[in-house]
Amino acid sequence: MVTDRLLRTPRIVELRLRPIGAPMRYWPGQYVMLGDAEAGVPARSYSIANAPRPDGEVVLQVTRQGDGLTSAWVHERLQPGAGVKLSGPYGTFIGDPSVETPVLCMAAGSGLAPILALTEAALRRGYRDQVTLLFSGRATDDLYDAGLMAWWQARHRNFRYRPTLTGTPPAGWTGLVGRIPALLPTLFQDLARHSVFVAGSPQFVEDCLRAAKALGARSEFVHSEGFFPQYPPITPPPGQLLALSG
Ligand SMILES: Cc1cc2nc3c(=O)[nH]c(=O)nc-3n(C[C@H](O)[C@H](O)[C@H](O)COP(=O)(O)OP(=O)(O)OC[C@H]3O[C@@H](n4cnc5c(N)ncnc54)[C@H](O)[C@@H]3O)c2cc1C
Repeated sequence: MVTDRLLRTPRIVELRLRPIGAPMRYWPGQYVMLGDAEAGVPARSYSIANAPRPDGEVVLQVTRQGDGLTSAWVHERLQPGAGVKLSGPYGTFIGDPSVETPVLCMAAGSGLAPILALTEAALRRGYRDQVTLLFSGRATDDLYDAGLMAWWQARHRNFRYRPTLTGTPPAGWTGLVGRIPALLPTLFQDLARHSVFVAGSPQFVEDCLRAAKALGARSEFVHSEGFFPQYPPITPPPGQLLALSG
């Protein structure tokens, strides 16, 4: 059931969902499918934005995509108190808890969701190596969860949050300016020892991966989640079906 709904940026709604029955078991970084088949809303993938909790609460962060069917339904119609069906968990965008390396996370938009779950889980279990999170937005309004980032940074000396703006920064901005792939060589000399996690639009992920690999990031330590669009199942028009059966 939807227990809360918050507008996190002008384009991202956060849903908080609690199970009526047993909590779903999942690994941080995994995603679920959400939709409403009866209302004609196709099920789409959404990454879980929190590490597992005893009450089973699952947080999703959904970006409105132009004329997108499911994201419009989430933004316009889904309200607290509504019952929803999730399927899952799915996906292999998960960190190996036994690996101790410096970590570099890169995200843009709601690509932050699975990175939040992975980071929360790692910090909670006392991860000791350096964890750097680069988060890209066009304007400061896009950089949601800045308060949580400040708190993690104050509480965990090994966590570093580096926001960057791709648009014109406001007066007094002290963060980075520019796209992550272009900034990467100015921030890191060598990523050969790093575990790298990237999530966001397919183009963002591709550009970041290319930049990370150029700095020596090793394939076996590189994990990515591209938010590829999923089109509704294609049903042939009735005329075509008749022609096939005839
Ligand atoms: C593994 C995985 C995890 C994902 N996690 C998240 C998440 O945590 N949060 C989130 O908001 N989305 C996430 N997505 C994307 C999500 O599943 C949907 O694709 C997205 O919400 C659009 O669905 P829709 O039904 O609204 O749009 P559709 O009806 O499928 O598409 C409508 C229009 O929007 C365009 N479009 C669709 N998706 C995108 C996109 N991602 N970028 C640019 N244009 C697009 C289409 O080309 C089309 O023109 C994830 C995708 C994958 C594969």
